[in-house]
Amino acid sequence: MHIEILGSAAGGGFPQWNCNCPNCRSVRAGTFRGKRRTQTQVAVSNDDVSWFLLNASPDLRLQIEAAQILHPRFSGRHSPISGVLLTSADLDQVTGLLSLRELQSFRVFCTPSLRSILQKHNNVFAMLNRVPKQAEWAEIKPGQSFPLQAISGNYSGLRCEVFSLGSRYPVYVSREQAAGLVPEEASVGVIIESSSGKRLAYLPAVSSLDEQLLRRLETADVLLFDGTFWSDDELVRVQGSGATANEMGHIPVSGADGSLQMLAAVRRPRKIFIHVNNTNPMLDESGPEYREARAAGWEIAEDGWRLDL
Ligand SMILES: [Zn+2]
Repeated sequence: MHIEILGSAAGGGFPQWNCNCPNCRSVRAGTFRGKRRTQTQVAVSNDDVSWFLLNASPDLRLQIEAAQILHPRFSGRHSPISGVLLTSADLDQVTGLLSLRELQSFRVFCTPSLRSILQKHNNVFAMLNRVPKQAEWAEIKPGQSFPLQAISGNYSGLRCEVFSLGSRYPVYVSREQAAGLVPEEASVGVIIESSSGKRLAYLPAVSSLDEQLLRRLETADVLLFDGTFWSDDELVRVQGSGATANEMGHIPVSGADGSLQMLAAVRRPRKIFIHVNNTNPMLDESGPEYREARAAGWEIAEDGWRLDL
């Protein structure tokens, strides 16, 4: 399996347009010891020919241009992108779909609740279905295993299992609308298995961890995990007010209930943080937080990384 990390920051990217936190300020001043990042976007392929996007970031158009493997290969209109798997309806995960509206055929894999949010309640996504055989929506349910199939019907060699990671719908989904949706379909994690049995676990937003999830992660060869915030009150300290990491549906990296501690016993996979917020001090490669994460066996994803399993 081939994995391309096209973007690795949380929503807003790094630096974020309206943020003057120490990280963002230092990047703009040219003094930061670390990398700029676009918003989280991953692409996977079993054969290096047919590619599937994990979510669709607001930076998708530029991320496709930056990755040669995603460029058209035949004259006229063509794309190696066969499909998009959505893990939530967060704007950072779905707005990139609007950059794929130029009448190209591809599949969208998502839960029935996410499909309802996008297709029934947000008319702009109708641009993906202007003509027959444009986007084909395939409904997936937590607990299900299914093949990633191109719209042509060709089997990609990749199989997925999705599992619920939380019941929180995005803020733009009204309470009345959310009442008609299935809570377990709000946010999913995914394990993708290649034809040779290699497994990628992709969990960009994790609100809590239990034994069952930890056992599942132990079966992976590579783990791309929620690295949004270093500490629970990180945003509150930067902004002076606002929500904690836990209130936003992200367990922080540090602390007794943080991912470094909770996943210390998960030994099999190569462990990589992704979806890192611009305020997270572990982005600074000269700082103690970066060293602590690295010493605990974690890597911090960067745009442009390619992993081959
Ligand atoms: Zn910032």
